[in-house]
Amino acid sequence: MRRKIIAGNWKMNKSVEESAALATDIVAAAKKAGDLQAEIVICPTFLALDRVAQIVKGSPVQLGAQDVHFEAQGAFTGKVSTDMLKAIGVTYVILGHSEQRTFFGETDELVRKKIGKVLAEGLKPIICVGETLVEREAQKTESVVKSQVTAAYAGLTAEQAQTTVIAYEPVWAIGTGLTASDEQAQEVHAFIRGLLTAQYSANVANTIRIQYGGSMKPDNARGLMAQNDVDGGLIGGAALKADSFLAIVTAA
Ligand code: PEP
Repeated sequence: MRRKIIAGNWKMNKSVEESAALATDIVAAAKKAGDLQAEIVICPTFLALDRVAQIVKGSPVQLGAQDVHFEAQGAFTGKVSTDMLKAIGVTYVILGHSEQRTFFGETDELVRKKIGKVLAEGLKPIICVGETLVEREAQKTESVVKSQVTAAYAGLTAEQAQTTVIAYEPVWAIGTGLTASDEQAQEVHAFIRGLLTAQYSANVANTIRIQYGGSMKPDNARGLMAQNDVDGGLIGGAALKADSFLAIVTAA
């Protein structure tokens, strides 16, 4: 049985103080809930990571970063390394988010390099894949997702693959209020699991968690996560308030 994973992607939102306040509320609720069935991850901005790290320490809430560079150190203005993230207690790193791909030119090749570095350093990548509306309407969902997944897992061993999480995020659903239906999500998640089965084995594929992302909210989370191959959510807008984020955690 795969443990569901709910990750909040705070994107470029919240000051350090606001991030600390939100993290404090989430940690308090997680502690109160006791034995949580779902894994919880929060991903603040780089600026707020250290402060939030101190708040989540010793709690069931884990810390994620929104990106990382693939080199260890050096002249890479504006970038942050895996060592820096590890030193403050980060465990997950979101990679290949559609906003990185669309606005900052992140290619499959770059995503692959980052995944390699993250895994080599003992961090866990949350690998985002998904089609645009134009691609869906042109019946290209499967081919787009296949090429992104194939590129991301090229050369990864089964053991490495098992420490990854995939986030299927239809680009047309991110931040738009549109959500994939339960059936649309399940269809693509099952397709992704099929790709992993073909590359590794059913046993391996069955241990890899595939989150859904794209306007997941308290009122649609339960239906989406009731699908066989939907193992949690990567949450943007609804992760910016403790009550809506926690309602999704409860749904999981
Ligand atoms: C995201 O950006 O990963 C995301 C899923 O955003 P939202 O929930 O706001 O659609």
